[in-house]
Amino acid sequence: MTITIVAIVGARPQFIKAAVVSRALRRYRDISETLIHTGQHFDDNMSRVFFDELEIPAPTHNLGIAQQSHGAMTGRMLEATERILIEAAPDWVVVYGDTNSTLAGALAAIKLHIKVAHVEAGLRSFNRRMPEEINRVATDHVADLLFAPTEAAVANLAREGIAGDRVRLVGDVMYDSARFARARIDQALPRTLGLRPKGFILATIHRQENTDDPARLRAIVEGLSAIAETMPVVLPLHPRTRSALTAHGLEARASARLRVIEPVGYFAMLALEQAARLIATDSGGVQKEAFFAGTPCVTLRDETEWVELVAAGVNRVLPPTDATRVGAGLRAALADERAWPKIELYGGGRAGEAIARALAGER
Ligand code: UDP
Repeated sequence: MTITIVAIVGARPQFIKAAVVSRALRRYRDISETLIHTGQHFDDNMSRVFFDELEIPAPTHNLGIAQQSHGAMTGRMLEATERILIEAAPDWVVVYGDTNSTLAGALAAIKLHIKVAHVEAGLRSFNRRMPEEINRVATDHVADLLFAPTEAAVANLAREGIAGDRVRLVGDVMYDSARFARARIDQALPRTLGLRPKGFILATIHRQENTDDPARLRAIVEGLSAIAETMPVVLPLHPRTRSALTAHGLEARASARLRVIEPVGYFAMLALEQAARLIATDSGGVQKEAFFAGTPCVTLRDETEWVELVAAGVNRVLPPTDATRVGAGLRAALADERAWPKIELYGGGRAGEAIARALAGER
């Protein structure tokens, strides 16, 4: 009997995570997987490039739901997904990470009594002002199968009463992905941009807490601009951040000192991460990729879910409350010469296989 799976994706990091699981599922002849793209990210360089590079099967549906308030977006996704799931009646719905697409997919499925699997379960920032935190907590509490990337995630779930066979510690699919991509990394971009290896800082900013708060956004732009006098700063700009810079009148200020570029493909991004001397980011995925690449990282947030990176001394949390603080924190990180720890934090690179095995009903 064939096991049918519908995966729900909508945002850049979800395409990357889904690619890993989809690749592992394709090895099972008795599993049939289809994808729904909610449309949350729709630009070619935020969506199509990942399907092409990572050979993700084309989605059967693209809901085209984007650029709305959280409630409107989640509600429309819920409604549209429900309609498709009634028709498809899969055995499993698989959701990834912590976006509105994750929550909408999980809610639509669970109300139809379709089993929900959550990949990257158990992460917590303990900051309920983050939309991602609400999405994760709610999704974890309705999921039937929770794939946790780390011990810390398993412990977070246990504290909320979610434990036992529902929870599987499988490692992080982003590590699988980085290993898969190793042979495909596209070194052309750092060279085209004229960047010296270990001679530049790579920055990414897109979290709502930074983009929607003009004081924080200004602190980040000015802090990065100050350090750019010492070392070039490359900023592949997320569309949300581009809109926010425009809205807050900071676009000219950002492009005066920073090398602002369009979002890049995954294989080019990994090359930038490897070649950078330091990474400054508010991205979850990029924090871990910095570690995989052996590049120190500064997290421009008040906290991080990836606490093991901070404990290992490869990541420091730097709340972007004012420009001086951001500049000083980046300078301190550049001056830090400590030896890189030889540790494995995210499993052995077989998370995708473990997830596929569990969905196939094997132990
Ligand atoms: N990424 C990319 N191009 C870019 C910026 C990021 O391919 O210009 C990749 C990055 O390598 C990582 C993922 O996007 O794999 C992280 O996604 P994002 O920062 O949007 O979301 P988060 O990880 O914070 O959920």
